[in-house]
Amino acid sequence: MRGQRSLLLGPARLCLRLLLLLGYRRRCPPLLRGLVQRWRYGQVCLRSLLYNSFGGSDTAVDAAFEPVYWLVDNVIRWFGVVFVVLVIVLTGSIVAIAYLCVLPLILRTYSVPRLCWHFVYSHWNLVLIVFHYYQAITTPPGYPPQGRNDIATVSICKKCIYPKPARTHHCSICNRCVLKMDHHCPWLNNCVGHYNHRYFFSFCFFMTLGCVYCSYGSWDLFREAYAAIETYHQTPPPPFSFRERVTHKCLVYLWFLCSSVALALGALTVWHAVLISRGETSIERHINKKERRRLQAKGRVFRNPYNYGCLDNWKVFLGVDTGRHWLTRVLLPSSHLPHGNGMSWEPPPWVTAHSASVMAV
Ligand SMILES: [Zn+2]
Ligand SMILES: [Zn+2]
Repeated sequence: MRGQRSLLLGPARLCLRLLLLLGYRRRCPPLLRGLVQRWRYGQVCLRSLLYNSFGGSDTAVDAAFEPVYWLVDNVIRWFGVVFVVLVIVLTGSIVAIAYLCVLPLILRTYSVPRLCWHFVYSHWNLVLIVFHYYQAITTPPGYPPQGRNDIATVSICKKCIYPKPARTHHCSICNRCVLKMDHHCPWLNNCVGHYNHRYFFSFCFFMTLGCVYCSYGSWDLFREAYAAIETYHQTPPPPFSFRERVTHKCLVYLWFLCSSVALALGALTVWHAVLISRGETSIERHINKKERRRLQAKGRVFRNPYNYGCLDNWKVFLGVDTGRHWLTRVLLPSSHLPHGNGMSWEPPPWVTAHSASVMAV
């Protein structure tokens, strides 16, 4: 691009210099002198408009890929609603199969205590899944207040041109800064941040638990249904009714869907559990990794200022202040707010391992 510009500007500049030289030697006429002055003025204007101290190869690559980022962001933004509907439809289908196909089968075969246990556990798990998913999609992640000068900020957002508190990052899909941003989740059609991070993790955890429970609990039924389907094409055909055939297919669908989700979501849940144990978000994981390497090269040790120790990290994350809270705030639906306002990061008073210096990340 620069080559093309110099290709066009080069001859023009040469001509003007020639004119300038000739003009001044022969007592340059006012018209030509005005033209030369305007050319110089235009040059200064152009240079001042194009000057950017942050310009570099990264900026050029970013600018070149801007249409791709725009397309991806818009696709995720517009398909967010489709993903949410998909989660609701798939979860609803599993619940419907459990009631319509599995329940009539186990009512005939299971003992009463076993039935009671399954009834209590499955409904407890279902309530927690529905509650946390609803809260995760409807709770805003938290945004830094704009136009206030009394908040502790560490940098300026290049997109919003507003000060950013520590742990705040810009979401290009929501197009705004998010407090303690973890990531933008298309399955929630929402950003995961300070105020809904717990709901997101709890949803992942209880959904994984529910899927493991369904796939493990329906293993025998799945095997029988699968074996029955394999006999459909025998001659003479087996005497299965239409309802039995539908039940077989539904059981196979239930087992495959629950097993796949248990594996995929289980891996995601474990990953997030590791991050929470370390007191990091997904974004901070990358930043801290870079920082750790940079300091290691200098022979220094990186210390994450938001890491209070594994157990305390979990207690801060889940909002567990007393022993009773493990039951009322973790194992039962609870809409309590997280610690802090997402802008200053003073831990609760019972946290012992606390670094006084808060790094800007
Ligand atoms: Zn921003
Ligand atoms: Zn977002």
